[in-house]
Amino acid sequence: MYAPPSHKSFDKAEPQDPKRGADHIAPDCAGQNFYAIDRGLRDLLQLYLEPNDFRRLEPHFDRLGALAGGRLDELARAADKHPPVLNARDRFGRDEDWIDYHSSYREMEAIAFGDFQFHAMSHRAGTLDMDRPLPAVAKYALQYLFVQAEFGLMCPISVTDTSIHLIRKFASAELKDYLLPKMLSADVATMWKGTQFMTERAGGSDVGAIETTASCEDGVWRLYGDKWFCSHADADVALLLARPEGAPGGTKGLALFALPRRLKDGRRNTYRIVRLKDKLGTRSMASGEIRLEGAVAYLVGEADHGLKQMMEQVNLSRLSHGVRAAAMMRRCVNEAMVCARTRMAFGKTIIEYPLLRRQLLKITVPSEQSLSMFLFAASALDRANAGSKEAEGCLRILTPLLKFRACRDNIPVATGAMEVRGGNGYIEEWVQARLVRDAHIGVLWEGTSNINALDIVTRAVGKRRAHRTLEAALKRLLDNATRMPVAFRDRLRQALDRALVLAERVAAEPPLEQSARQAASALYHVTSSILMTWEAAQPGRDARRALYAKFVLEHRLSAQDPLEPHDGDWEREAAEFVFSQRQVALSEIAGLLNS
Ligand SMILES: Cc1cc2nc3c(=O)[nH]c(=O)nc-3n(C[C@H](O)[C@H](O)[C@H](O)COP(=O)(O)OP(=O)(O)OC[C@H]3O[C@@H](n4cnc5c(N)ncnc54)[C@H](O)[C@@H]3O)c2cc1C
Repeated sequence: MYAPPSHKSFDKAEPQDPKRGADHIAPDCAGQNFYAIDRGLRDLLQLYLEPNDFRRLEPHFDRLGALAGGRLDELARAADKHPPVLNARDRFGRDEDWIDYHSSYREMEAIAFGDFQFHAMSHRAGTLDMDRPLPAVAKYALQYLFVQAEFGLMCPISVTDTSIHLIRKFASAELKDYLLPKMLSADVATMWKGTQFMTERAGGSDVGAIETTASCEDGVWRLYGDKWFCSHADADVALLLARPEGAPGGTKGLALFALPRRLKDGRRNTYRIVRLKDKLGTRSMASGEIRLEGAVAYLVGEADHGLKQMMEQVNLSRLSHGVRAAAMMRRCVNEAMVCARTRMAFGKTIIEYPLLRRQLLKITVPSEQSLSMFLFAASALDRANAGSKEAEGCLRILTPLLKFRACRDNIPVATGAMEVRGGNGYIEEWVQARLVRDAHIGVLWEGTSNINALDIVTRAVGKRRAHRTLEAALKRLLDNATRMPVAFRDRLRQALDRALVLAERVAAEPPLEQSARQAASALYHVTSSILMTWEAAQPGRDARRALYAKFVLEHRLSAQDPLEPHDGDWEREAAEFVFSQRQVALSEIAGLLNS
């Protein structure tokens, strides 16, 4: 188990003083336990996890929540200020490139790969005292807690996890024997971490334009080409796509390869990190450009199934990206709430002002939506892994929905949280500035917003018809939410029907492609609204989730007149309940749901 070093291994971190905030400046969340203060997460884990698993894992959620608000947060601040540095050659002039990381980053790696073993928890027993691999719900809940402190490192963590998945599923027995023991190890000093290099100058979205070639020389595959965006650039093994000589053009001719950093005899493989990117966000983690100069690689799976296999990794990454966006939004909400409850202006705390409360709602609701969406998607993944075809269908559409909408919502939420802190939010000493910078990458990697919206409409809806599988699951939840007012549930059913029809029209009529994002947003909003309604209806759970559902219904799924004030009486009353720090009963808010 991780134990913080007795001395600070870096010198630039600020001391964590819980009394900060004296003398007019509002405090931040330093020192809080991000699990203990998260009513939504604590509630929902009890709905989405088996009771036994919840009982066994709760101490770990709590421990990580404390680390995320404490030591990890300190480390993340320092790592962001001390980005990695590439050394192109050693002192003898050899192209033995390597990357130096700040000690804060290395300490975060020890927590992630050594203590919690994020990379291995889905694949083997023995992590976090479990006698079997962790359910996806638990893994993503842990990612959610971790990312509230550190976003950059979650890329190497997640991509190691998903690389292991691909190798387990598609690699030959020999390749598995070679790679998996190293990749599943919890010895941070010797383990092999994974990554994925796909994007080239010719194309990120247009994968078929990839120019890297693979040639089989004396029975060994060698790769030639350039990869333009390579996060976790110095990973020990990278999964990548290349075109074997003679293979057809486009995506059909792409094969999947595993590229080791070191060869079996210990020498460096023949590829180089040419330079690191100077990035807006994720600054703690190294993203670089790679030149492949006849590098040795191992074919993974069947040569003509490269992209299909790689899409498994892409989809798992998309799910994790949705979780990361949810996590960053939660951090934004936590920071905004602590500030709003303490900052004084014109003789009152700023949370007392209706206009400020409205801003708080605008960051709280998307954050809660994404929480419900990722837990529902993760539970579908668990059920799909157990053999449910229905869950597999739901997951097919939930994954891009979550990636598309949560990552986009993260941007205005981060900006909104910065604004709540006022000018200090713009200053790099406070976490808000980093949250604003980090938020933007979510709409780019693993498919831009357009690419995800098109995946939803053309493939998940048009080809797979996964929206109808999702419809059946959501309608069951609504039927089951009998404690909710009938009229409110009927409105949700109607909204669902209209969103499904919109998605089908956009899928069927090519000129409507320009509405793909509108259709995807509608499906996301109605799905999350129904989930939050069902969750609120469960005995003992936070009834305020139904108010979040109603906000989504009114503001995202209903027509608005821009020339009428949109804060009716119900909204003012609802805000009272949402920001109340006491337990709210369903009976207290039922009237508001029908108003
Ligand atoms: C910091 C960072 C780290 C990254 N790390 C990695 C990594 O580790 N591995 C990796 O493989 N990649 C990585 N990427 C690359 C990332 O996945 C790509 O940048 C992304 O997929 C977009 O590709 P592109 O940059 O080529 O843009 P393009 O594909 O050229 O897209 C440009 C614009 O055109 C739009 N567009 C494209 N096609 C369509 C269409 N059919 N309809 C409508 N609009 C369209 C896009 O939405 C986008 O707005 C990283 C990127 C960044 C910024």
